[in-house]
Amino acid sequence: MTDFQSLGLSNILLRAVESEGYTTPTPVQEQSIPPLLEGRDVLGVAQTGTGKTAAFALPVLQIMNRKKPQGKRFIRALVLSPTRELAAQIDERFAAYSEHMDLRHRVIFGGVNQNPQVRALQKGLDILVATPGRLLDLIGQGHLDITRVEFFVLDEADRMLDMGFIRDIEKVIKLLPKQRQNLLFSATMPKSIAKLAGSFLNNAVMVDVSPKEMTVDRIQQKIMFLRKADKRRLLVQLIKEERVQRGIVFTRTKHGANRLVKQLDQSNISAAAIHGNKSQGARTKALAGFKDGTIPILVATDIASRGIDVDGITHVFNYDLPNEPESYVHRIGRTARAGKSGIAYAFCDDSESGYLVGIQQLIGKEIPVQSNHPFHFIGAIPKPGQKPGKIKDKSGTKKRPRNQNQNRQPRGNSHRNSRPQKRGNDNGGHRGGNQSRGQGDSGSRRNRNNSQR
Ligand code: AMP
Repeated sequence: MTDFQSLGLSNILLRAVESEGYTTPTPVQEQSIPPLLEGRDVLGVAQTGTGKTAAFALPVLQIMNRKKPQGKRFIRALVLSPTRELAAQIDERFAAYSEHMDLRHRVIFGGVNQNPQVRALQKGLDILVATPGRLLDLIGQGHLDITRVEFFVLDEADRMLDMGFIRDIEKVIKLLPKQRQNLLFSATMPKSIAKLAGSFLNNAVMVDVSPKEMTVDRIQQKIMFLRKADKRRLLVQLIKEERVQRGIVFTRTKHGANRLVKQLDQSNISAAAIHGNKSQGARTKALAGFKDGTIPILVATDIASRGIDVDGITHVFNYDLPNEPESYVHRIGRTARAGKSGIAYAFCDDSESGYLVGIQQLIGKEIPVQSNHPFHFIGAIPKPGQKPGKIKDKSGTKKRPRNQNQNRQPRGNSHRNSRPQKRGNDNGGHRGGNQSRGQGDSGSRRNRNNSQR
C-alpha cells in the first residue's frame, strides 16, 4: 500500500498529515499528488469526501514553500469554490496542512461585511480561497490582484456551472497570468466541464475516482415506497428506531426544509435547517450544533449541503428524491466518509418513481427495497420500462399521478422494473444548468449567486 512519503511529500507536510491522523493516501491523493509536484495540470473527477482537498492543497503548499518570493506577499495560489461552506472548509484544511509553514491564507465570500477581508488582503496573502462573486467584487474595487497567481484551483466545477458561475469563471481566468499551474476538480464530467477544462488546462493528467467506484459501495442503500403524506411519519419512526445521532435529511425545497424542522420538533427531534436563505450566522450555528452533537439532524437542500465536511454522519435520508440523479450520489456521499460505512434511505412517492429510474441508471444498479414498514405503497414503484424523469400526464404537463397501485402487483423486496437503461431522457439523463435551477435553491443567476455568496 502506498504511503504519503512515497508520494514525494516533504517532511514538514508528512508531519502535518500525521497530526491529522491520515495514515494512507486516498486514491485521489495517490494519483494527483505526484503529477502536481512535477508541475503538471490535473483534472480530477472526485467529489467531496474523497480527500480531494488534501490532494490539491498538499502539493500546492509544498511547491509554494520551496521558493518564497522576496518582498510583500502576493496571491500565489487562488482556489475558487462555489459555496461559502466549502470555501471555509478548504481554507480550514490549508490552515491545518500549512501549520508549520510561513504561508498566509484567507477565505473570502459574500454575504458578510467585506472590510475584514479587505484588511487581510491589504496585509498580504499567499493563498486565497474565494467564491467567484466576492472575488470579482473585490477585484472590481481594486482591493485584489490575481495577476501573479502561480496555482489556480477550480473546485466543484460542475456545481459552479450549475449555479451559473461560468461567466464569472471566464472573467477570472482572463485576469490570471498565462504561466501557471491549473487544477480542476469536479464530481462529474459532463460535456460542459470537459469543454471548460479544455479551455484552460494544459496537457492535464486525468484522475478519475468517480463515486461509482469510490463511495457508493460502502454505503448501505435502501429505497422505501410510500405516499407523500406518510413521509414525515416514516422519517420520525426511523430516526427514533435507529437512534440517529448524526443524520442529514435532504428536501427539494427550502420551504420544505423549514417545515420539516418544525414538524420534527413537534415529535421531539432536535433538527436545524441549512439552505441558501439562511443567514451565514444561522448556517454556522446549525453546522456547529451538528458537529458537536447537540443537533442530531440537519435538514438540507442540495446546494447548501455541498461540501458539508462533517465526519461520522451515519444516516442520510433522501426525504424527497432529487430530480438530478447526480445529486443522489452527492447526497449519499455525505455518509461513509474517510473509510467509514453508512446507511442511506431514499423515500419515493408516486410522483418520484421516474427520478428513481434515473438514479438507478446512473449508479448502474437497483437500490434494495425495504418494504417492511407500515407505509409501504406499491403505487410508488416504477412501472416496467418507465423512463427516467418527472412523471407527466397526457397533456404533457408535469403532474402527480394517482391510483397507480390499481395496475400493480406487489413486489415484496425486489422490483425489477427499473432495470438500468440507456440514459438521456428529458429529465433524468443529464444535468444541466437549467435543470438544476429547478431545485430548491432556485432563482435567477444573480439571486442564486447572492444566496451563496
Ligand atoms: P475532502 O474530500 O477533501 O472534503 O475530505 C474528506 C475528509 O477526509 C476530510 O475530513 C479530510 O480531513 C479527510 N481525509 C482526507 N484525506 C484523508 C486520508 N488520507 N485519510 C483519512 N482521512 C482523510
